[in-house]
Amino acid sequence: MTNPRYVAIGTCVAACVMVAAAAGQQNAALQFEGVALTTVPVAGNVHMVTRPGGGGNVGVFTGPEGVLLVDSLFAPLADRLLAAVREVSDGEIRFLINTHVHIDHIGGNEALAGQDVLIFAHHNVRRRTLEPLRFPRFRTGGFAPQPAAAARPVITYHDEVSFHFNGEEVRAFFAPAAHTDGDTFVYFPDSDVLHLGDVFRTTSYPIIDVYNGGSLAGTIDALERAIDIAGPGTQVIPGHGVAVVGRDAMVEFLAMTLDVRDRVRTMIAEGKTLDEVMAARPTASYDATWGQEASWTANDFVPVVFHELGGASLYEAR
Ligand SMILES: [Zn+2]
Repeated sequence: MTNPRYVAIGTCVAACVMVAAAAGQQNAALQFEGVALTTVPVAGNVHMVTRPGGGGNVGVFTGPEGVLLVDSLFAPLADRLLAAVREVSDGEIRFLINTHVHIDHIGGNEALAGQDVLIFAHHNVRRRTLEPLRFPRFRTGGFAPQPAAAARPVITYHDEVSFHFNGEEVRAFFAPAAHTDGDTFVYFPDSDVLHLGDVFRTTSYPIIDVYNGGSLAGTIDALERAIDIAGPGTQVIPGHGVAVVGRDAMVEFLAMTLDVRDRVRTMIAEGKTLDEVMAARPTASYDATWGQEASWTANDFVPVVFHELGGASLYEAR
């Protein structure tokens, strides 16, 4: 039986999605009208800038030698992001690290580049900014326009890069292909803060962006790596979520992810189709906590898990 909810539409040609993307861009400024950003202390010399609902959280590292940012929110919020940074430092903003390519994490790049901020990211983030951006929504992936040349990372790395200023070290390193294939974790060992981008969220199930090279296996590997790094006092900035959390929250998130994976794997071994797996609700005990974000529920997460574990091709008719 074919369930149209999981069937790729496959008829929307590039021109049509680009028109939709352009219209979306025009609406973006209106969408963010009245949105106020909040700057909160995290630990040591690190603050977090967050927006209502918590999304695209920005890390702000400050000191006498200047400011380093982790991510840059949406483009229409760039001025408000700068004002939020100025609440905690009037120093020069020198460096920006993008944790991945999504538009709620690189949107302010162009404005910051215009202020001579040097942008760093994994090679794959820059590679993907050379094309229209795709994001993990609407079954076949939504689209956004190609970022302006000035928005692209200027310095890219494969494994890691370290910054040495403000009397501290800042380590930015590639996480296994998890949320995307260009995920960076940023660790501030002296301030004892981890910024995990969207590999770790407190608002939804893991978002595995298969259109940008993400994977369930990588998500699990990356979370295990973050948990290994974190100590009992480490403060963790999630990609999405209004609160800074600790190591225990990552452990709980990983345990949920592993449990859902194991349940789906068992059902696949029993010969169940995706429709049967969905009907069995393998996430039922977690939906109240992680299944409430309308744009990414169990109906989005479970098919990705099912596909990666070999159940069937993603979103294809069966
Ligand atoms: Zn993302």
